Amino acid sequence: MPDLLLVGAGHAHLHLIANAPDLASAGYRVRVLAPRHFDYSGLASATAAGSVPADAGRIDVRALARRHGVELVEDTLSGLDLLGRCATTAGGAQIEYDVVSLNIGSIAAAPGMEVGAGVLRVKPLADLASLDTRLETIPGASVTVVGGGSTGIELAAHLSGRGGVGTVRLLDSGSEIGADLPPGARRRVVRLLDQRGVEVCVDAAVRTVTARQVDLDDGRTMPHDIALLATGLAASSLVSELGIGDADGIPVTAYLQHVDHPDTYAVGDCAHFTPQPLPRIGVHGVRQGPVLLASLLARAADAALPTYTPQDRALAVLDLGDGVGLAVRGRLWWYGGTALRLKRWIDRRWLARYR
Ligand SMILES: Cc1cc2nc3c(=O)[nH]c(=O)nc-3n(C[C@H](O)[C@H](O)[C@H](O)COP(=O)(O)OP(=O)(O)OC[C@H]3O[C@@H](n4cnc5c(N)ncnc54)[C@H](O)[C@@H]3O)c2cc1C
Repeated sequence: MPDLLLVGAGHAHLHLIANAPDLASAGYRVRVLAPRHFDYSGLASATAAGSVPADAGRIDVRALARRHGVELVEDTLSGLDLLGRCATTAGGAQIEYDVVSLNIGSIAAAPGMEVGAGVLRVKPLADLASLDTRLETIPGASVTVVGGGSTGIELAAHLSGRGGVGTVRLLDSGSEIGADLPPGARRRVVRLLDQRGVEVCVDAAVRTVTARQVDLDDGRTMPHDIALLATGLAASSLVSELGIGDADGIPVTAYLQHVDHPDTYAVGDCAHFTPQPLPRIGVHGVRQGPVLLASLLARAADAALPTYTPQDRALAVLDLGDGVGLAVRGRLWWYGGTALRLKRWIDRRWLARYR
């Protein structure tokens, strides 16, 4: 009976847990090493800004595992011996396995800048989740969001609509925010932020960010009460610490297997998909779930393994607060209440599968 260890209950592994009876029928003993709860990032901006309840995107991994006959080790990974096939938990337990899969997510990257203590990061989500409490304790707080990509825009938009927040500033080192958005969508977002009083500063390369101020490369200094880092995502720092990859992630082939260790799989944001660069978006974790499941079943049956083929364009919907969203697919986009309702419907349907 091969021992399958799933580390982290991210998007892809939730799919495996929910389909664990199939894995058991194929002969696997399935164990999951993960914290009790999973928090869904699609609702993270709204929960962080206090627009929806804090547990709106929460999945109880313990309950899910129990329902599908999976043993959950409620802990986190702290060591991994790929050759000896043994994982060590933060609590000091050792778990031997035959096949391991990692789905441990990402952290906020801080390319080329110094980040002081007390600066909030958008990932891990537990860090972002403390934003609402911080805002409660500092009435009229001025907030600086560093990074004008989709996440930074979402957060600035939400914060500007939240009562009790003073000024909201959005900084980006580029010449415009929302550089990945189609031009019309970008202009629409810029107009919205302007109407909501967000101070957008472009060409603002941050050298240092601390809990009190940012220092820019051009010598300017800007004070704030709360700083939020939304400058992109990198693979979980554990990947580099354990020597199984780097900030780009655990290198995997199209089969989602480690390039040098076929008994090790990695999926989602912690993986570096070597056939082509992939953006760190939940869609890939979600779509890799069924491929990973099929691969494990094929292994057990000695059949050919499936490969992961990323979609060319994925639908992304930004939650801009106050009941409006921005849906983007390739160069197509639409803005308004229906875009946000579509996002909520997709989110609810996905969450319902695991609740
Ligand atoms: C504010 C925000 C909003 C976003 N909105 C969207 C969106 O609307 N759509 C979209 O597609 N993408 C969105 N993203 C990107 C999205 O969050 C990631 O791409 C996605 O979460 C990656 O999924 P994953 O399954 O790889 O990892 P995660 O969802 O991060 O899951 C990893 C899991 O592993 C656990 N874990 C971590 N370390 C360990 C350890 N050492 N041992 C055991 N378990 C561990 C974590 O607790 C977590 O539950 C957003 C990101 C942010 C920051």
